[in-house]
Amino acid sequence: MNEMDKAPRRKLLAVFAHPDDETFICGGTLAKYASEGVNITLVSATRGEMGRRMGNPPYLNRESLPAIREMELRRACASLGIRELIFLDIRDKTVEFTDTDQLVTRIAALINEVDPDVVLTFHEKLGGHPDHCAIGKAATLAFQSTGHRGALYFITFGDMMEHPEPYGYSRRDVVKIDVHAHLQAKLTAYRDHRCQTEIDEWVWLADHEALTRFGKYEYFIKGNLPAQRELDDLFDYETEIRGDSQILYR
Ligand SMILES: [Zn+2]
Repeated sequence: MNEMDKAPRRKLLAVFAHPDDETFICGGTLAKYASEGVNITLVSATRGEMGRRMGNPPYLNRESLPAIREMELRRACASLGIRELIFLDIRDKTVEFTDTDQLVTRIAALINEVDPDVVLTFHEKLGGHPDHCAIGKAATLAFQSTGHRGALYFITFGDMMEHPEPYGYSRRDVVKIDVHAHLQAKLTAYRDHRCQTEIDEWVWLADHEALTRFGKYEYFIKGNLPAQRELDDLFDYETEIRGDSQILYR
C-alpha cells in the first residue's frame, strides 16, 4: 500500500437539476478532481425528460427520452470519472413546485450518508433556470440543516465570475479552477450527451477546433467560507477561518 492509498479519499457531492448540468457547467472541474482520486457522487433531481432536443436528426421521442437521457448521462459520468449517480426522480421542469421540506430532508440524508468534503450546487438566485434555482435553494438549506463540516460552493456559468462585482461579489468570494488539462474529458462528455449536443455543430468539429470553445477556467462562489482570500482549489479551505456558516446572497 503506498501513501496515496492510506490517505482518506476526498469526497465531493454535486446536487444538480438535469442530466448535462454536470458536464456543461463544471465538467472540467469534475474531471480534474476525479483524476486526482476524489470520490464524486452526482445527484440529478430530474431525468431531463421535458427537454426539447431529440437529436439531429431526431432519434428520440417523448417516450424514449427519459431512458436515453439517463443512458447518456451514465456515459458522461464515465467520461468525467464520476463514480456514483443518484436520481431524485422529480419531474423535469417542476422542481420549484416540489415540497421544499421533503426535498431538503432527502438531500440532507444524502449529505449525511456521503459525508462529502465539498458540496456543489446551484446558486438560488444566479441559477438561470427555475429547476436550477429550486434545487440550489433546497441543497443549501439541507447543507445548513446538517451543520455539515465541509465546504459549500455554487456553480456558475462560463466566465461570468471573472468579474464578480456586478453580481455583488468580489474575487475573494470566488474559486477559480484551472481545468485546461481536462477539457478533452469535458468534450467527450459533451458528446456523450448526444441528444442535447447534436444540434450544436461546434461540438462535433475536430477535437482541436471544438476544444477552443471551452474556457480554461471554471468558477465557483463560496457558499459558507469567508471572503478572506482567493482560492484556486475547492478542497483548499482548511486554513480558512470559519464563520458561522451564514450563507449570504447578495
Ligand atoms: Zn439544467
